[in-house]
Amino acid sequence: MPAPVAADLIDASDDIVRTMRGWALYVQFGGDHPWRAEGLEAGIDGADAWDDVNGCAEVILDELDSLANDSHQIEALWAGVAQVHGGEPSPWRIADAAARYALDDQPQWANVPCPDCDLKVVRVQPGRNRRPTRYRCTTSDCGWEANSLDDGGLWASFFAEPVAIVEDVEHPRVYPHLLNMTDAARLAERSVATIRKWIKDGDLMRELGRVKEQDVLAVAARKRGESA
Ligand SMILES: [Zn+2]
Repeated sequence: MPAPVAADLIDASDDIVRTMRGWALYVQFGGDHPWRAEGLEAGIDGADAWDDVNGCAEVILDELDSLANDSHQIEALWAGVAQVHGGEPSPWRIADAAARYALDDQPQWANVPCPDCDLKVVRVQPGRNRRPTRYRCTTSDCGWEANSLDDGGLWASFFAEPVAIVEDVEHPRVYPHLLNMTDAARLAERSVATIRKWIKDGDLMRELGRVKEQDVLAVAARKRGESA
């Protein structure tokens, strides 16, 4: 199942691919070349797009010395690559995307606890260039580790951040309406261990490593009724 992707991420990728291809063509063939730099092909996968842009970058970097000696060229390259624009950039520059998405490439702390030791100490190392994302528990006596391809992709879903799909700028919503274990525990005013027990007991169904908000509320209310 393809993950939902924010529309501005697609726009940014498309603009950046077009910019990089345009510069690579210019650097290789000069200003009179007959080709038009196109954006992302429909359905291209992230790794192929990365290879493509990386290849363009190598071509441009090889010629950077001579580009830098021409103030018109280097100013144009600077404008297309390194300027940051506020709000919704159009077209997106590489720096705009880096400013907004830079964290995606940095190791991060997961927002859900380790599935083995239940401590919130899992480090997420984002995958790059066909390598899967790695999840590693950092407590010395646990050592749990997985990657985003293990167990049919379960962990990618388990550690996924909720993705906001903006259909209506006035009323953005988060889809799917699923909660991670920590947020479910907070909503139910119970511990994460309790939420896990509800899942284990079959009271709650897990979808993509998460639980539905309305299910959590319903089970929490039922449990309160049983204990009253
Ligand atoms: Zn652990």
